[in-house]
Amino acid sequence: MTDLTYGRVQGHLHRLKLTRMAEQLDPLTEEAAKEGWTYLAFLERILDAEVSARYAHEVVMKTRLAHFPFPKTLDEFDFAFQPSINQRQLQELATVRFVANGENVLFLGPPGVGKTHLAIALGMAAIAQSISVYFTTVADLLEMLHKDIQEDRLDQRLRMLCKPKLLILDEMGYFPLDRMAAQFLFQLVSRRYLRGSIILTSNKSYGDWGDIFADQVLAAAILDRLLHHSTTVNIRGHSYRLREKRKAGIFTELPMPEKED
Ligand code: ADP
Ligand code: MG
Repeated sequence: MTDLTYGRVQGHLHRLKLTRMAEQLDPLTEEAAKEGWTYLAFLERILDAEVSARYAHEVVMKTRLAHFPFPKTLDEFDFAFQPSINQRQLQELATVRFVANGENVLFLGPPGVGKTHLAIALGMAAIAQSISVYFTTVADLLEMLHKDIQEDRLDQRLRMLCKPKLLILDEMGYFPLDRMAAQFLFQLVSRRYLRGSIILTSNKSYGDWGDIFADQVLAAAILDRLLHHSTTVNIRGHSYRLREKRKAGIFTELPMPEKED
């Protein structure tokens, strides 16, 4: 390659914002010459460098936007500790087909059994497939809503929460919701219905939802939409947080409702 050609190629790559290809031009043209690559093999390698770098950047950005409290993967989950969970079912969910179909996933169970861990793991699996995700606890959502009401931007919040293809609502049911919050959740679930998936975690069984919403009819309407196309994972088991203490014989049974992380 002449210096002139080299300069023009670099210019094109920069103009097209193909920065990783620009970086890799020198080492890959050298390697191609040494190894006798075909033109096509060279093109494949240099495109691959650009695509891989962009994908890695996209995953970092989407993970940042998702607001996970901590990163967790399915590989980090000890299925042997929680035999009530069907590992196959979780692996199937981690293919994230449910998001393409606009279906929901609900994790139910007592504190510490891995509901948040699994919700995040599915969220990270979704991001790996370029799906946008937003995570919030119901408590944080309520705090946002109370600020939004004062600033008259509830509609904006609703639109913002409808944008990500996958919305994770963590910890439904730790405390009751007021009428405004209950109605907001009804609107959120209705608007996302069949359009955007929701993963929801709760320590309450569906029978107790009337108490969370202080309104049986509204609770039934929300559950109706949430459950219509959905998978429920019921986790019945011991808290992973307390396992070391249980091993040491400090607890035989859960002593008190424990504080969440
Ligand atoms: P929950 O949301 O059900 O209260 P978490 O998902 O927050 O429980 O789990 C509590 C802690 O224990 C987290 O750090 C989580 O990663 C870990 N954990 C829970 N279950 C398991 C498990 N089966 N294997 C590995 N880690 C687990
Ligand atoms: Mg949790």
